[in-house]
Amino acid sequence: MGTQRILSGMRPTGKLHLGHYTGALESWVEQQNLLDEKGARVYDTCFLIADYHNLTTSLDTSEIYSHTLDMLIDWLAAGIDPEKSPLFRQSQVKEHAELFLLFAMLITSSRLERNPTLKEQVRDLNMESLTYGHLGYPVLQSADILLYRANVVPVGEDQIPHVEITREIARKFNNHYPHPVNGEVFAEPAPKITKFSRLVGLDGKAKMSKSLGNTILLADGPDEIQKKMRTAVTDTQKLRKNDPGRPEVCTVYSYHSKFSSPEQLSALGSDCRAGSLGCVDCKTLCATNISQELAPLLERRRYYETRMDLVKNILFDGEIKAKLIASQTMQEVRAAMKLGELAPIHYHGQTEC
Ligand code: SF4
Repeated sequence: MGTQRILSGMRPTGKLHLGHYTGALESWVEQQNLLDEKGARVYDTCFLIADYHNLTTSLDTSEIYSHTLDMLIDWLAAGIDPEKSPLFRQSQVKEHAELFLLFAMLITSSRLERNPTLKEQVRDLNMESLTYGHLGYPVLQSADILLYRANVVPVGEDQIPHVEITREIARKFNNHYPHPVNGEVFAEPAPKITKFSRLVGLDGKAKMSKSLGNTILLADGPDEIQKKMRTAVTDTQKLRKNDPGRPEVCTVYSYHSKFSSPEQLSALGSDCRAGSLGCVDCKTLCATNISQELAPLLERRRYYETRMDLVKNILFDGEIKAKLIASQTMQEVRAAMKLGELAPIHYHGQTEC
């Protein structure tokens, strides 16, 4: 077990794309496998399938199970090891909902309305009004983190306000309900600013997103990747093969910077600028390099796809482990709050309802 616990999660949106890989999965695997100088794990990692969070922006749950399994397979294919990291659904550990309710009493609605991340989301999704659950999304996230006593939260700059809310809730809880022995039930988690490598979509306009149809999926084979890469937006001023190009504005070059070697990248940049490289050849090489990087994932995906019972058992086992941690935390929470204390009950004779 690592000395620090990290909880990370994703909403179950089905098959994942390259943006998920560079933006999260790669660092999850790195954190999971990181060892100190004595060979011990640095982090104890837990990975959450945030299915309740899905409901903040969509009430449609018809495909939530198939999307969960698809995402889970991608996690496993990327190298998440269920022996090291429990993988579990939020909805199957009831303590998430219980702790969310208790935490909801510790924060004001005006504090949540000031959350800048929420304001951006409302603007980006063109939302006219918010549900009560959506407003409380950072409170649910606080419950997710503190339920597992996660003390490190890897975040991008935009997520720092959420960690601050979690810290405030932990402080307020500890002030109101001190632990009978330790003084504090919750340690305040620390944000770990992580430079997530975000990928722009094939259209070059926005980040990769399935809803925008501009993705390369982790499940795509080499032919599909070549096909999709042909649609990628390049430097619009480079019309002919021998026109000099500007790699710095090219979507394909941004992929090269992630999936090609430094030597290749440098040569591609110079050749593009000199007009000695055509976009077709450049895209073919880019697609080949991405396929090579994804080849081991594709192989592992095929392994799990043909063993769905194993995948379901992995989820089941992860949920048992998660429930154990969650129920221990909630026992301490209830004890600190003096909820559920009972005086001994003596029954005399038969009781009737
Ligand atoms: S040659 Fe490559 S880097 Fe240059 S504009 Fe075309 S695709 Fe982009």
